Amino acid sequence: THFGFKTVNKDDKESMVKEVFDNVSSNYDLMNDVMSMGIHRLWKDELINTLNPTPGSHLLDVAGGTGDISFRFLDKIKTSPNYFPNIIKNGSSETLKSSSLPSSATVFDINQSMLNEGKKRGLTKGYTDQSDPSIDWVQGNSEALPFKDDTFNCYTVSFGIRNCTNIDQVLKEAYRVLKPGGRFLCLEFSQVPNPLLRFAYDQYSFNVIPVMGQLISGDRDSYAYLVESIRKFPDQENFVQMIQDAGFKQVTYKNLTFGICSIHSGFKL
Ligand code: SAM
Repeated sequence: THFGFKTVNKDDKESMVKEVFDNVSSNYDLMNDVMSMGIHRLWKDELINTLNPTPGSHLLDVAGGTGDISFRFLDKIKTSPNYFPNIIKNGSSETLKSSSLPSSATVFDINQSMLNEGKKRGLTKGYTDQSDPSIDWVQGNSEALPFKDDTFNCYTVSFGIRNCTNIDQVLKEAYRVLKPGGRFLCLEFSQVPNPLLRFAYDQYSFNVIPVMGQLISGDRDSYAYLVESIRKFPDQENFVQMIQDAGFKQVTYKNLTFGICSIHSGFKL
């Protein structure tokens, strides 16, 4: 396939994004490692450390792909000093008192093959829709979430919002499904403010990444598209404004690795 990614119009974006992720879903981890030189693992750890979830939390992990963020979230809950899994459900008040509130992660993605791959991985980690903490996998579009208002405590989107056609609509939906007090966190490639570092980063992005994509997966176009989409994404301050426009309060961000990535945070109050 060839993507004319410089001239693509908005109507084609959704099907093109689907095709990109269909192409890369089988060697998706490899792609992440190529794009970030392996650092994406640390960035994702940082996202969950920022969230610092406690038992009783319900996460919606949008564009969750194979579950990288959700697994970290559930693993983190399990290390909480307040985590007491509800193993015996015999209804006795003693047992209920000693178990923590159940926690869950819902992985939400437009691409069913990503979710299928993630579900398999979840099983090897012991996470199912019956475990505590539990996980479930839902297919759909982040611009029209199939969930009621005020449902989740936390909303994460990691390397996913950039690929959406209507980002304002994604943010609006995030706001809607969060409970009052709930937190929005977005991990995304961002803009490197330092000109010298940006120059070096551009060389790497435009010259090295597509070639590596070609060598590893024979798919130069998908990787070139991903680089292009990073450059088109709003910078840190403009993205703060967009999150505020969706209704979020106390919107902040922190840069990771010179601003190659940033984590944006906001609350529904
Ligand atoms: N969150 C995971 C991570 O950090 O590793 C996966 C990120 S992956 C780069 C982007 C994901 O966004 C893909 O799995 C893709 O299918 C999904 N996606 C793209 N557009 C979407 C949309 N409109 N709604 C939901 N998911 C979408």
